[in-house]
Amino acid sequence: MSDLLVMKFGGTSLGTAARIRVAAQISAEQHAKRGVVTVVSAMAQVTDLLLDSLRKAEAGDQADLDRNLKELYARHFEVCRELLPAARQEAVLAGVHALIGEFSRIAKGMMMLGERPPRSIDEAVAIGERLSAYLLAEYLESQGILAAAVNAADVIATDAVFGNATPLMEQTRERASKTLHRLLDEGILPVVTGFNGSTLDGRPTTLGRGGSDFSASIIAAALNASELWIWTDVDGIMTGDPRLISDARVLDMVTYNEAAELAYNGAKVLHPRTLAPLVERAIPVWSKNSFALDKPGTKIVPSAAMARAARGPHAVTSMADVALVSIEPANSVLSGTKVMARALEALDRANVEILAITSSSYRQTFCFLVRQSELGSVMEHLEESLSLELAHGYLKPFDVDKDVGLIAVVGEGMKGTPGLAGRIFTAISKRDVNIIAIAQGSSELTIAIVVRRAGLESAVKAIHLECGLGG
Ligand code: ASP
Ligand code: MG
Repeated sequence: MSDLLVMKFGGTSLGTAARIRVAAQISAEQHAKRGVVTVVSAMAQVTDLLLDSLRKAEAGDQADLDRNLKELYARHFEVCRELLPAARQEAVLAGVHALIGEFSRIAKGMMMLGERPPRSIDEAVAIGERLSAYLLAEYLESQGILAAAVNAADVIATDAVFGNATPLMEQTRERASKTLHRLLDEGILPVVTGFNGSTLDGRPTTLGRGGSDFSASIIAAALNASELWIWTDVDGIMTGDPRLISDARVLDMVTYNEAAELAYNGAKVLHPRTLAPLVERAIPVWSKNSFALDKPGTKIVPSAAMARAARGPHAVTSMADVALVSIEPANSVLSGTKVMARALEALDRANVEILAITSSSYRQTFCFLVRQSELGSVMEHLEESLSLELAHGYLKPFDVDKDVGLIAVVGEGMKGTPGLAGRIFTAISKRDVNIIAIAQGSSELTIAIVVRRAGLESAVKAIHLECGLGG
């Protein structure tokens, strides 16, 4: 469909009745001009509450589960009362009640079983998005706009990796054209749940925490939309973390590659997987602030031409909860390459993301950086796959260093800019921060730097200043 706009509202942009009104107004305004599909997250904090409830259920903790359910009802009832005209309230309260009832039945099943099957978690947790989609659609209808809440389980087809599923684009395109095109053709505004999907045989899945951005881009790609707007509570993609850097600036424009690198390296503004589905059709994305409608936001575009015009980096981002794992052969009997290959295979089986990796020296020592939350699984898989080498002393015991932080300096314009790395490292060392590891790919899109945790903030500030990123 030409000219179609897909928009996504995050949890804070739907966190209260007042915010839902704003989201509805934005959707309606565009819907008056062209086809719109609105994708929603659960209201702020609701997903956490749902997941916590399921853990309580598994642990057999009836009182805590009841307390959570009460909070869930209260939160949505309150919004419903504030949002909807009296005449519609009873019906919508009943609808909310039914959805939360569905959730509580799944939770109670888990309590009886004393376990949380992954597919049941996915089915239950998507109810946060089904609630917000329902409320937004009902409110739009109350304002005289034809709207319909759509469960993305009927739109997004995925593999069966529960909790972190990957879309199957061809089948999603088929499903989307059946469910969404029909609505759009009738002038109805579909309000689709973010975060969830289902397997080809209909089992419920989710796309990973924060996955609603990804849902929106999957839908935009499936419908061949002309634009995707992602509404959050910040002004766009920034040159640095504003909590850290007082003169951090919003960027007018970044490329897909830059935005993906920033997201991947800890910038919170976009889910890292969001841009991949859009590449093929080069659909532009806007990152916008639903709390500041007058701000233009950041445009994310496929082309690197404009980025190259600007020399040097565009932004610096950092991550604190990471761990550096080093692997070192004890002697030269073992091929370093083989050890590396086995270690990488183990990481693949553990399904973890390597944030940075470096290798050097005659001894073929190498180290890689992972999220601390994934460290348990990393060590388990590594130890299993290299157990013989460890037992026979061919490998030194793995070294794990959690007292580190990752900095990523990102920009397509860094390519072929001599002296840049030198300036960055000098700026860091002037602040007395020791650099532990460095990685730069040959695309020169990102320089990743691992430093001591205590020096992380200071190093980020130094780079932002040295590269003249501030306003
Ligand atoms: N509600 C889900 C979460 O909190 C998905 C999202 O917000 O994007 O992870
Ligand atoms: Mg969110």
